Amino acid sequence: MDDFLKLARRIVKNHYLCINCLGRMFAGLSTGLSNKERGEIILEVLVMELSHELYEGKRVDKKLLASLLYRYKKKNLLELVYRKEMLVEKQHSENSTCEICGGLMDKIDDMAIRISREMKDYRFETFAVGVERISDIEKKEDEFRVRYNIKYGENIRNEISREIGKRIMKLTKLNYSDTNPDIQIIVNIVNEKIKIRTKKIVITGNIVRIDDIPIFAKTCSNCKGVGCAQCNYTGKTPDNSIEYILGEFLLALSQGKKWKFGVEYKDDKLNFRISIISPKIKINETQVLYKINENKELSRMGISDLSIWI
Ligand SMILES: [Zn+2]
Ligand SMILES: [Zn+2]
Repeated sequence: MDDFLKLARRIVKNHYLCINCLGRMFAGLSTGLSNKERGEIILEVLVMELSHELYEGKRVDKKLLASLLYRYKKKNLLELVYRKEMLVEKQHSENSTCEICGGLMDKIDDMAIRISREMKDYRFETFAVGVERISDIEKKEDEFRVRYNIKYGENIRNEISREIGKRIMKLTKLNYSDTNPDIQIIVNIVNEKIKIRTKKIVITGNIVRIDDIPIFAKTCSNCKGVGCAQCNYTGKTPDNSIEYILGEFLLALSQGKKWKFGVEYKDDKLNFRISIISPKIKINETQVLYKINENKELSRMGISDLSIWI
């Protein structure tokens, strides 16, 4: 078993890992640092070690030296090499791409900026970031760790989700929360696609039964309820039913995509329950009741006992 420095030397000498991927191999050895910072420290320690060897007039490992000089562009080491009038051949191509991630880690900043822009339309407090599997890269990472017997590395997706999360927190007013977040952001870092899921909003209450108003909305005949451009993706045909009027009203307030509606009959009243799917804005009872009173069709329904859960 190599000691830590020997292991770092072997990796930097024989491979090109970007600074994040290099740092991530040693993630479990220190806390409170990003993998990038950890990678920079490892490289700096190696620069110091080689500089020490050069000053001492020792024979230095040329391949390791070349890697630090030309792939990691360590300028202070370069100056020392010039002063010593040493010749160090470029043993690797200068434009190397990371053997593990292939440059994927460079996309983190852009992805975070794009997500933060989209978040401007959402009025929620908390979020979490998930990263879809990147099987080939995770396999390469696992094989690399097995090859060097590394027991304290971290999974690449962990780092990507944490780093994107940190940036979103800086760029927006949202807070990161792993437990029951308002917004779930799913990132596909390879094809740069983003999926956003929000918690549904459930609204319950009572309605006084009015004989001349139908209760349920009709399913859209064009899409059979799936959602199409014709029905504005609600899956329902516009009409004067309680479901449609209430559904459209709550959808507009919460900027949701669809609703689900159900009722229970209780004496002369209807207990309704409506769920808003994929809302962008949190709504509360006071605000909804206020808006109901302003609305002619809704105020006629005699809505009471309104409760909202998110
Ligand atoms: Zn990498
Ligand atoms: Zn439709």
